[in-house]
This record gives sequence, C-alpha cells and structure tokens, in this order.
Amino acid sequence: MYMLENLRIMHPVVKDLIAEKETVWLNADLMPTDVALSSCLLSEEDVLDAEQRLERFVPFFIKAFPETAATRGIIESEVREIAAMHQALLDYSGKQISGKLLMKFDSHLPISGSIKARGGIYEVLKHAETLAFQAGMLSHEDNYENFASEEFRKFFSNYSVAVGSTGNLGLSIGIISAKLGFHVTVHMSSDAKAWKKNLLREKGVEVIEYASDYSLAVERGREQAENDPTCHFVDDENSTDLFLGYAVAGLRLKRQFTEQGIEVNSENPLIVYLPCGVGGGPGGVAFGLKLAFGDAVHCYFAEPTHSPCMTLGLATNLHDKVSVVDIGLDNVTEADGLAVGRASGFVGKVMKPFMSGCLTVSDERLFELMHLFYESEGIFLEPSAFAGMLGPVVVPSTDESGIHLIWATGGGMVPADMQQEYLTKAKQVYASRSHT
Ligand SMILES: *Cc1c(COP(=O)(O)O)cnc(C)c1O
Repeated sequence: MYMLENLRIMHPVVKDLIAEKETVWLNADLMPTDVALSSCLLSEEDVLDAEQRLERFVPFFIKAFPETAATRGIIESEVREIAAMHQALLDYSGKQISGKLLMKFDSHLPISGSIKARGGIYEVLKHAETLAFQAGMLSHEDNYENFASEEFRKFFSNYSVAVGSTGNLGLSIGIISAKLGFHVTVHMSSDAKAWKKNLLREKGVEVIEYASDYSLAVERGREQAENDPTCHFVDDENSTDLFLGYAVAGLRLKRQFTEQGIEVNSENPLIVYLPCGVGGGPGGVAFGLKLAFGDAVHCYFAEPTHSPCMTLGLATNLHDKVSVVDIGLDNVTEADGLAVGRASGFVGKVMKPFMSGCLTVSDERLFELMHLFYESEGIFLEPSAFAGMLGPVVVPSTDESGIHLIWATGGGMVPADMQQEYLTKAKQVYASRSHT
C-alpha cells in the first residue's frame, strides 16, 4: 500500500489535486510516437480494422438511422474554427493564444449526441457482427442492411447487452442495442440525468438506478453478464473494442483536415484537449491522432478538479490502483461523464508514452466557459465539453503557430429546458466570479 504522504512528496502535482487546485501536469515519460508504437499492444491495423467494420455497417445506418444519411451512413462530426470564442478567451484570460482555435463537435454526433456515439456504438456492432457470423447468418459480401431486418432483430432478441454508466455511454449502448433487437440493461449511477433515463426507457431499454457512483453501476453490470452466457457486458474500464471505436476518429480527422486544406506538421503542430472520465474515449481518440499525425500532435487529458482520476493515475503510475477518494476528494462534479474516481488501468498504461500531459479545471470554470461560449458562438454544450477549453491558455506553449483543437464531447441531445437551466446557471456563475 502506498502512503498519501509519499505520493505528495514523490509527485508534486498530487498536492494540487488534493487541494482541488486547477493545475497542469506535463508528462516527463512522453516518447517519440514510433518508439511508443513499437512497444504498444495495439496497432494501426487494429484501428483500420475498426474503420472497415464501420464501413460495412453503412447500409445499416442509412436504413436504421436516417439522420446519418447526411454523412453517408458514417457517424462523424464537424471540425471548424471558433474565432469568436478565440477572441472571447483572449479577453477573459488576458493571454494571447497563438495560432488558430478549432473545435471538434462530437457534442453533435448523430444517434446519441456525445463522443460515446463512437466507441459505444462500435462495440455493439462488432458484437452483433460476431454473433451473426457464428450463427451462419452473415458473410462478408452480404449487404449489412440485413441488420435492420425483422429476421436479425428476432435473432438478437435471444441475446442481451449490459453496461454501467454515468449517462452518455448508457445512451449510446442502449439506443444501438435496442435498435438491433437486443435485450439491453443500463445500470445507471446516481449522477445520471433523469432525461437520459427517460429517453432510454422510451426506447425499450431496461434502466436500473443506483444510489451510488459509477463504479458500483459498472460492477452490477459485470455481475449480470457473468451469470448469463448470452449477455455481453460493455466494460468501460477495460474494453479494447470501445477504445478502437474511438480511435477511428483520429484517422478521419486527418482526412477532414486534408479536405479543408489544413496542414499539420512540426512547424504547425496540432494541440488537442480531450475531456477525460475513465479514459477510453479521450485515450482512444488520442491514440488515433498519434497514428494520424505522429509527433506533430500533442494530446492533453482535461478533468474536473473533483474527479482528476487520470491525472492522478498517470502522475503516480498507480493507474487504476488509486482513486480520487484515496486523496480525500468527493468525486462530485456537474460534468456528466467525467465524474469518475478511478481511471481505466488499461488506458492509462497504454497511453502514458503518447500523452503530453493533463489539466484540471473547477466546475465554476466549466460554467464560466459555457457562458462565454454561448455568448460568442451561440451554441450550447454540456459542462463536460468545456473541460479542455482552457487548455490553450494554461498549457505552456513554445510555438508561434499551431492549431489548438478543443474536443467538445457532449450536449447535442440535452432537452431545451435543461439547456436553459444550465445557461442561466452559467450566466450567474460568470457574473459572480472575478475572472482573474
Ligand atoms: C464519457 C464522456 C467523456 C469521457 O470519456 P471517457 O471514456 O469516460 O474518458 C467526456 N465527455 C462526455 C460528455 C462524456 O460523456
């Protein structure tokens, strides 16, 4: 067992974490991408395989989710400059931000309105494909539109899917599993929002609520699946399929940049700020980005000061062996999806040599940034989506040029009245703070 006092002495950042102070941690173990890749248990082939699987499902998406027709059956989001927010951040912080400020709008991904529409949906599709192959119902040449047929739905109704979630992962897994015909159970932690539970129930998903945090919800999901061989458990803490589904984003971003004539290289680096909960989403995306851009991309995880599990795990190398509760934090935050006390051990270990660092921000800061963003860009995002927004201001930079990319992770499906509540609060928080 480690001692708190030892952690504090060995790892200076832990002192800031304990004090709930906003902080930046830079990773001294960052390696050149090719070196890190050579000893990594996942490779580019794995990500390409995931991308090709998603391609095979295109006819299914167009049929089952007509909203994906606009992106030709691909679940993808827009990336673009946010110049008005760039100016607003400058005024707010009094600091110059070199280069350009861009946003990746995973907040508005089709089907489930968050970054979970990548990994979550991918894992269920892969599972469904495997079952169909095993049953002799499918060959590689078949049109995957079949997955939307009554025959397939009837087949999948013999199987179930379970997941533990703070909200958004449950939304993704629930929606896609129910559409395919699976019996699906979502174990929801106490911080999950009521509208997410209601939406899932409307779609025929079984939602079980817990009066405790995310870890217990995950544990219950795991137990359910252990006792039932026809049940697939989506393991947010350990799944490589989830991770690979997220990683496809990196390869696609490179293509989007090419289409827009945006070049990334050592003179014009890409610096990406990724809101982090258990780590699978941002870790997977960062892995894909490293494959796509190599040493020209610098990736940072961003977390709330009350739930900095990844910063704690990476900085101490204890990964999933330490929880934010162990250092006296309450793991309570308004940032849905980021209220995670213990990081994935798998992601922290795999991603350590690829990550440039981490930053933490207070909940008040998330609301201030929400206000600034709405005032400048006129777009609503949920609090989690702002975790990385201060990155370009606080992360030390040596470059005059460069592209700062804020990965916006959720908010697209938040009901209008809830949006209004958030924005009212954001305005109040903004007005009450001194902005220094
Ligand atoms: C889940 C989630 C994240 C972080 O993803 P992890 O895989 O838990 O690290 C970030 N933002 C939002 C809105 C999320 O739902």
